[in-house]
Amino acid sequence: MQNSSLFCPSNVDYWFIYYCWGGFCLFLLIQVRWVSVISQRKIIHLDMDAFFASVEQRDNQKLQGLPVVVGGQPDSRGVVAACSYEARQFGIHSAMPSSRAHRLCPQAVFVAPRIEAYRAVSVIIQQIFRRYASEVEPLSLDEAYLDVSDSEMFAGSATHIAQAIKAEILEETQLVASAGVSYNKFLAKIASDMDKPNGLYVIKPTQGERFVADLAVAKFHGVGPVTAAKMHRLGIQTGRDLRAKSKQQLQAAFGKSAEYFYNIARAIDLRPVCSVRRRKSLGKETTFTTDIADINVLREQLIELSDKLWQRLERDDLQAKTFTLKVKYANFRQISRALSVAQTIKQPSEMHALLLELLLRVELGQQAVRLLGVTASGFAEQGLADNRGRQLELFDVSDKL
Ligand SMILES: [Mg+2]
Repeated sequence: MQNSSLFCPSNVDYWFIYYCWGGFCLFLLIQVRWVSVISQRKIIHLDMDAFFASVEQRDNQKLQGLPVVVGGQPDSRGVVAACSYEARQFGIHSAMPSSRAHRLCPQAVFVAPRIEAYRAVSVIIQQIFRRYASEVEPLSLDEAYLDVSDSEMFAGSATHIAQAIKAEILEETQLVASAGVSYNKFLAKIASDMDKPNGLYVIKPTQGERFVADLAVAKFHGVGPVTAAKMHRLGIQTGRDLRAKSKQQLQAAFGKSAEYFYNIARAIDLRPVCSVRRRKSLGKETTFTTDIADINVLREQLIELSDKLWQRLERDDLQAKTFTLKVKYANFRQISRALSVAQTIKQPSEMHALLLELLLRVELGQQAVRLLGVTASGFAEQGLADNRGRQLELFDVSDKL
């Protein structure tokens, strides 16, 4: 005989079902509300077009219409920092060795970077951004995210705000910017790249998922060439392919980045626009014209380099506890050594002592050195830096080799 209670729920069972159903509906409501709040955000990503090269063309009429490369000279071992759209047509791009850029386009004009000129423009555009948005997150000299969700300008139209910002930038700097408008940072950044130069591209909340599904993963912000190649090997070509992978599959293949990939495949990015962007590290490096084997010359170069780093630290009002030395040998092998101290470094002489100590810990003499780099990190809270003088105690250091 069958147990009838299995088929005829008791009153208790009904209550249990009602509770479950009620809970499920509440969960759905919260989800819908949450999704609507998230998709109501209005984010603009603004990015100057071919920034350094455009400033050079603006300031020197002779360069207008020409392939311009900002960076190292072709006979040096320098690289391309930026190039004009005319130069890009020859396949030149940033980070390419200048010698290769010259081979691709022998008529290209090579110009040394004028960082102060770029900074001056950056100050102007940042001021313009702040006229339109209370939350502005600069990414570099020529790029920023703006959160205009609460703006009442142009009846709250982020697209019109972006248009107005682009117009003001053109008027005040005679330079052109591209804007991406969407409901999160990930989509806004991709959007600003869609229609360059002088672009304005909008991805609406109803279009986000479809847009990501059709996009090649290599174009995703946060997917570099190595990750893209790995995704291709796994059969992931587009956002749609990425979305088809489970969280577990992504975790197995990409570890910590799995969560990020899982979300962006669904056009989800909850990162807020943060006006105060806390820098985690600051570095300077130099590639020598000829490889250096002499330790005394390397010491001099290291001091020179660390003084440049110190200038930046002072300018940005940063005080660091950790310094890292990077050495690239003539055979391109690279090693890093770091030292931390208990309290932030207050004097350049303290930093010199720390870096020279690190220089003793790398293998010198056997191999000539091609590149030296120094990085400061472990910053004190800005504005809370301890200003009391302090003697460096090298015995105090915790070695992070
Ligand atoms: Mg740019």
